[in-house]
Amino acid sequence: MTAIVNPATEQPVSQLEPATAEQADEVIARAVAAQRRWRDVAPGDRARLLRRFAEQVDAHIDELAALETAEAGHPVGAATWEAGQVRDVLLYYSAAPERLSGRQIPVPGGLDVTFKEPVGVVGLIVPWNFPMPILSWGLAPALAAGCSVVAKPAEVTPLTALRIAELALDAGLPENVFQVLAGKGSVVGQRLVDHPAVRKITFTGSSEVGRQVMAGCARQVKRVTLELGGKSANIVFADADIEKAAATAPQAVFDNAGQDCCARSRILVEAGVLDRFMDLLEPAVKAVRVGDPADAATEMGPLISAEHRAQVASYVPDDAPVAFRGSAPDGPGFWYPPTVLAPLSSQSPAYTDEIFGPVVTVTPFTDEAEAIVMANDTPYGLSGSIWTGNVGRAIRVARSVEAGNLSVNSHSSVRYWTPFGGFKQSGLGRELGPDAVDAFTEIKNVFIAAD
Ligand code: NDP
Repeated sequence: MTAIVNPATEQPVSQLEPATAEQADEVIARAVAAQRRWRDVAPGDRARLLRRFAEQVDAHIDELAALETAEAGHPVGAATWEAGQVRDVLLYYSAAPERLSGRQIPVPGGLDVTFKEPVGVVGLIVPWNFPMPILSWGLAPALAAGCSVVAKPAEVTPLTALRIAELALDAGLPENVFQVLAGKGSVVGQRLVDHPAVRKITFTGSSEVGRQVMAGCARQVKRVTLELGGKSANIVFADADIEKAAATAPQAVFDNAGQDCCARSRILVEAGVLDRFMDLLEPAVKAVRVGDPADAATEMGPLISAEHRAQVASYVPDDAPVAFRGSAPDGPGFWYPPTVLAPLSSQSPAYTDEIFGPVVTVTPFTDEAEAIVMANDTPYGLSGSIWTGNVGRAIRVARSVEAGNLSVNSHSSVRYWTPFGGFKQSGLGRELGPDAVDAFTEIKNVFIAAD
């Protein structure tokens, strides 16, 4: 049995028998049969079912948010937003089935048309940090394309995915079009990668496991989308609104206790305004409300597990240059306070590694060219922010930073209307945005002779 533990209390929430590889095979076989039927459902009916699915989610937002708070420790305000995101993403992609147009291409001797065919069964492997949104980002466009989905949530956070699958059935989605396989990554996740009937893997998680998944998919030339780690820069130029940059910097990195692939965990500040920025950042960090996730006023909850907290803490040894830190409750729960490190060598693991916790470094730079070099000095390339009052500089720096999702004068860049994914070792392919459904289709070309 796998115990699901509330990270804020360390109390058990539930327990589950992890699925075996044999059970995974049975689930995949059912998904294959279901996909053949789902593919043939009229586009308008598929769209209607996705809208009904969204309505079911909408009617259970509070229940889903409470589950997320209990199993992942997310503050209830954030968890409510995350459940709402599942609804919104389903609604957004419900428009797609009726717009999956191919092309008519001029050729001699007949007619040539292309079709966007569903790839088939999709294995959707989801991490523990945002169990609901990340599930929906793969699930909704895959269903819209006519694929069936077998989702593998992280072992420690399966409850929302299991409940969302029940809501899909309540909405009228045919049996086995969307199934959840709760179990270990090394067992059932690996089986999704290895099973020849699974035609595409959408994986979100660590770069290390992502590399294994990519290698496994290569053996069958299986389609794969990877959303991996990050070590994003928050670049603050002297000509920026320094008050706003400092006020939002905690949210940019401490949201979800820093367990966020897009966390802006390296703040780079133009040297001339460093002291002022630090003076403004300190009260903003100390004001972050860390505590009971069930309290609507809470802004930051605990880390996911004791092991993960120990790993985060290893980046802040006793002699670490802690500039200042916020608070965290005593007693049970995997708490860690928001922590600001400065000054720090660019060789320090806290500066180079993805910590995936509420730890941020602050480092000065001298000019625009150096800021770009520093921002790009990482194997990752997922996200980042640029703060400046100069439009030309905003454009130059945004074009020069090697990352998939940037924001200018804003701390956030993930929106379901726009493509999301990484450069370099942060991933492969894109999710979200108007083209995401295409990633779950294959182009089929058909020539029809006219003579
Ligand atoms: P992991 O890579 O450890 O796990 C991610 C998922 O993969 C889990 O469901 C896990 O299952 C599963 N898994 C583990 N081993 C295998 C395997 N051999 N084959 C198939 N599946 C497997 O990542 P974390 O859970 O630790 O998540 C945190 C990481 O995710 C961070 O590095 C973060 O940056 C990244 N991330 C990236 C995002 C992006 O969009 N780019 C968004 C969110 C997170 P189980 O847990 O049950 O073992």
